[in-house]
Amino acid sequence: MKSIRKTAFMMLKNCAKQFEYFYFKDPDYDHFNEPVTDPKSPQGKGTLFHNGAEELFPQCDVKEMISLEREDLVKYLRKRLPDIRQINPWLDYFADFEARRFCFGLDAYGKDEVAKVFMPVAREKYCKLESKTEPARTGHVDRIDWLPNEKALCIVEYKTGKYYNLEKPWILTNLRSECGWYAAILNKIKEYDIPITWWACINPMMQQYHVEKFHTMSLKALDKQWAGVLKLIKNKGPFERNITPLCGHCKYANECLYNYGEGDFRIDR
Ligand code: SF4
Repeated sequence: MKSIRKTAFMMLKNCAKQFEYFYFKDPDYDHFNEPVTDPKSPQGKGTLFHNGAEELFPQCDVKEMISLEREDLVKYLRKRLPDIRQINPWLDYFADFEARRFCFGLDAYGKDEVAKVFMPVAREKYCKLESKTEPARTGHVDRIDWLPNEKALCIVEYKTGKYYNLEKPWILTNLRSECGWYAAILNKIKEYDIPITWWACINPMMQQYHVEKFHTMSLKALDKQWAGVLKLIKNKGPFERNITPLCGHCKYANECLYNYGEGDFRIDR
């Protein structure tokens, strides 16, 4: 049985037809595609930011960081992030954001605990939930942090486009599903001793950060959506089109929209 990737699951929420193309017909579905790293394209900028953020933490020496003043701490972190003209403002924001997080950890938990709070529990974590009766669920989590006060872990996602405006309720709804997808997998396979009950998102382009606890209702909704996915796959449909402005960015638009609607119009006389 073919796995369901997080991307496919999120696609299905947006357009069932797009999911059908991706899951059943796209030869790229199971292939590794070299990530785009052209700093002029939005996708390339996103990849470069993700790479920079991922590589920051192994270069950090927490003992050294403890001795720095706030301003020097920002410089310390910034120096360990790449210099890429097109995304430098994002990286500046990220250095400042992580410095704030470090200072908060130091104040709240002291010198002995700050490393555990600041250093992610995992970065670019691949997760997979296998089953004998249904398709496996897979995904890549950008980062997982430890929240000592909550005795919990937090999924952290980096989103870099204007589309991901964290002030928009529907974006938060989508992110709840996306992060819930990872949390469900990792909690079900008991990857960690403590549960993942929080999620957060950083958008350096919009200079936004959002963090919240998973609501029981969102997790229940996710289970229901998963049951819906299984039913659709089993019945091979129906995969309805959802025609919206997002079709303009859809890889399958030519195939999907060609001839669509021909003969469907009724003109009332
Ligand atoms: S073009 Fe639009 S309707 Fe067609 S598959 Fe893509 S998103 Fe769905």
